[in-house]
Amino acid sequence: MNTEFITFTIEKQKTIALIAHDGKKEELIEWCAENQDILKNHFLCGTGTTARLVAEKTGLPVKGYNSGPLGGDQQIGAKIVEGTINFVVFFSDPLESQPHDPDVKALLRIAQVYDIPIANNRATADFLIHSELMNQEYEHNIINFKQKIIDRINDRNQLGNQ
Ligand code: PGA
Repeated sequence: MNTEFITFTIEKQKTIALIAHDGKKEELIEWCAENQDILKNHFLCGTGTTARLVAEKTGLPVKGYNSGPLGGDQQIGAKIVEGTINFVVFFSDPLESQPHDPDVKALLRIAQVYDIPIANNRATADFLIHSELMNQEYEHNIINFKQKIIDRINDRNQLGNQ
């Protein structure tokens, strides 16, 4: 048995987090409106202001977390760790500095660790949303860190015995 990885499943019905910095909110709302026939088949959530605006302008149900600068990105990151968010559309603004830049970096990192599909611009979001995998279950392998820790402890113990 391969203990190096754990297999996780992204269900057919995905939980999609929507996030947009202020300069990109218009664009994300427009993208959600354009793709609402697809998005309505999934569970939607997002950082506070983005979630509220998308829900208001499109009528789609969007669960709201805290606003990004107040920890919303971190809440979404934590849900990725717990396995309850498995898809992210995050239109970040490359031309504006953000007070919560460390949180943004942390979210990008954790999405990478958990092999979560994440679109940070419209073209990527278009390619992702029109992928045939949107209508399928998807299995992927995540590093088994528990096993890594056990291996490291064993390696240390062996060094100690030499
Ligand atoms: P907001 O947060 O949706 O509450 O504006 C987004 C962000 O800035 O990360």
